Amino acid sequence: MNAMIPSELAVQEKASLTTGRDFWSTSGLESAGLPAVILTDGPHGLRLQAGASDHLGLADSVPATCFPPAVTLGSSFDVSLLERVGAAIGAEARAQGVGVVLGPGVNIKRSPLCGRNFEYLSEDPLVSGVLGSALVDGLQSQEVGASVKHFAANNQEADRMRVSADVDPRPLREIYLRAFERVVRNASPWTVMCSYNRINGVSAAENRWLLTDVLREDWGFDGIVVSDWGAVTDRVRSLNAGLDLEMPGNPGNSIQRISDAVASGELEESVLDEAVVRLAEFAKRARPATGPADLDANHALAREAAGKGIVLLKNDGNLLPVRAGTNVAVVGEFARTPRYQGAGSSQVNPTRVENLLDELGSVPGLGTIEFAPGYSLGVDAAPEAELFAEAVAVAGRADTVIFLLGLPSAVESEGFDRADLKLPAVQLALLEQVRAANPKVAVALVGGGVVEMPFADDVPAVLAAWLGGQAGGGALADVVTGKVNPSGRLAETIPLRLEDTPAALDFPGEHGHVRYGEGIFVGYRWHDARKAAVRYPFGHGLSYTDFEYTDLAVEKYDDGLRATVTLRNSGGVAGREIVQLYVGLPGSGVARAPRSLAAFACFELAAGESTRVELLVDRSELAYWDTRVEGWTVEPGTYEVSAASSSRDVRLSAGIELAGDVVPVAINSETTLGELMADPIGGAVMAQFAGDALSGITGGSGDDEASAMMTSMLGSMPIGRLLNFPGSPMTREGLDQLIGAIHGARAAAAAGVPVPLRGSAVGDSRG
Ligand code: BGC
Repeated sequence: MNAMIPSELAVQEKASLTTGRDFWSTSGLESAGLPAVILTDGPHGLRLQAGASDHLGLADSVPATCFPPAVTLGSSFDVSLLERVGAAIGAEARAQGVGVVLGPGVNIKRSPLCGRNFEYLSEDPLVSGVLGSALVDGLQSQEVGASVKHFAANNQEADRMRVSADVDPRPLREIYLRAFERVVRNASPWTVMCSYNRINGVSAAENRWLLTDVLREDWGFDGIVVSDWGAVTDRVRSLNAGLDLEMPGNPGNSIQRISDAVASGELEESVLDEAVVRLAEFAKRARPATGPADLDANHALAREAAGKGIVLLKNDGNLLPVRAGTNVAVVGEFARTPRYQGAGSSQVNPTRVENLLDELGSVPGLGTIEFAPGYSLGVDAAPEAELFAEAVAVAGRADTVIFLLGLPSAVESEGFDRADLKLPAVQLALLEQVRAANPKVAVALVGGGVVEMPFADDVPAVLAAWLGGQAGGGALADVVTGKVNPSGRLAETIPLRLEDTPAALDFPGEHGHVRYGEGIFVGYRWHDARKAAVRYPFGHGLSYTDFEYTDLAVEKYDDGLRATVTLRNSGGVAGREIVQLYVGLPGSGVARAPRSLAAFACFELAAGESTRVELLVDRSELAYWDTRVEGWTVEPGTYEVSAASSSRDVRLSAGIELAGDVVPVAINSETTLGELMADPIGGAVMAQFAGDALSGITGGSGDDEASAMMTSMLGSMPIGRLLNFPGSPMTREGLDQLIGAIHGARAAAAAGVPVPLRGSAVGDSRG
């Protein structure tokens, strides 16, 4: 049909479009030519339920490729890989007639305890936003919509349907909304899913500031907002806020509620009409089902993705990879019973599942492979003497031990958070005995979140294998044997202890509120600002080869920055390096992390190969959220730009001076002398106006040091208060004239009229 004309529809018909027909589909309206659209989970594969509507658990979902969950995809730092994964999920969705896949999840990993961290990409908003955009681009390339979730500040599962995330404006904009902003601006998702929680007291589903002012008006979102399943408490308030589609369907109640509200005048019909126009556009985007997707190719892609997400945390003496002829002991039940995804709505019914043991067994050229399960997988599993003895014996006979350690599935799920960062005691106890029998132990960690690693200094090699999806077993075998050179990086810090983490003292809050007291200092920003030790830093990850960085050059480029650096693979095998560019502003006038990631890219180089790589930094990555003007501000100053292999492995740094933005801060009697003098127009007018008077105030004694001290002291004095002091050279009339002159000069400058001012240049000093 052509453009939707809501006036041709009855209120009841319009209301029916704004609430789902059932658990997984929209209502559609045949008479208006609008098809029903199927929306289904997501995010790392399809969970299309064939039968009943039990929406948690596996139920009857149609087999689909279980790609690695976001924790692993995020560790790849690989945009083109995530585009391909998104496209593959999109192709499987299209084949099943699904219109929208519910993902990706771009919430920030605020605390390592969040039970759903395995579904999220990173503690860093740039990584989450760039990789989230790649997944959306891939999905939508198949003409299947994405639903970016959970908007916003949904960083814990405890009390998730009610808790108020109490967040200050800067962390909200710079950390928690930033990834959503990037995805919306760059990838135009068809839908955004609002979260269950409140933000500063207002439920996301009823938050007009969030869903309309920020999302649509500020960022230009033109898709539909869908509720998280069951997030709506009052359908009329949520419509007024800008929530277009309530899911799952609640037709009986909601249609009546909306119709009554229109009749009583509580809801303007035009608000309903706006949602209906958007929903009609949305319905028209859905495409008919295609033929079957290539599941073999998707399995191979899942294996590639899992391999690129595995992080080599340490590798003393090059214990890994295991070489031809090596006799290997594989210890740990996970090697035969893999954990490859987390629990909850994201749980996919895989098309097949690989395990490490079988996959290692099919690698040609290895020596003997002996297996011992060592421990049981239950949460409270106790040491079993026979299993321990077998594992110790098997390890003692081997050249190298691959020991799988990991979190039991029952501790990582949607719906609740983890209680601690501990691994099961039984596994740690067995590890002690095994390494006494054979110190050549490579630990492979299984799980969707970070853990405390008390054993890290005692074993020569550690891999973070995360949750690898259905091909995770094969991917781990590829990395262990060197078929794939590890290249994943930590998208979240591994702390020494839970107590060291930024939100440790106020997670998950109390009595319905969680205070984001750490502000912008989330993840590595926190650890770096405190100069605190961590187990493994953000961005860390080793390789079977080495990379050298030389000749960093940084220049201004297209409003932002351009960095170029020469990268050389100086080792003996081909490998992939993730070049990270961090930016800091020493001496900044506002609170800042010492370094924030501003760009990253991966490069594959053959042994001995070198290349000149380029990274572009968008100007917005240099800005902070300025509460004075409720906008982004780039401060003037000399920015430190670092090319790094991790947040704590800076290879080269260079400074670049930027003039920064002119911030039109309000000028009135409460403006301080310091603020006034720092403002290019205010300072110049003040100097012109009160040159002598100023020196009178600051004590033109001829003693420079005393005068400087006086100026510093008076910097925090609001100009109106100058009137309060006997003998002050400032009069009421003079003050009014001064403020008036500044406003006049600003208006003239804004209109492009040259302002004849002494001292300071007036105008846009961006640069
Ligand atoms: C989850 C969403 C999911 C939805 C549908 C909710 O409980 O928070 O992530 O997409 O259910 O299964």
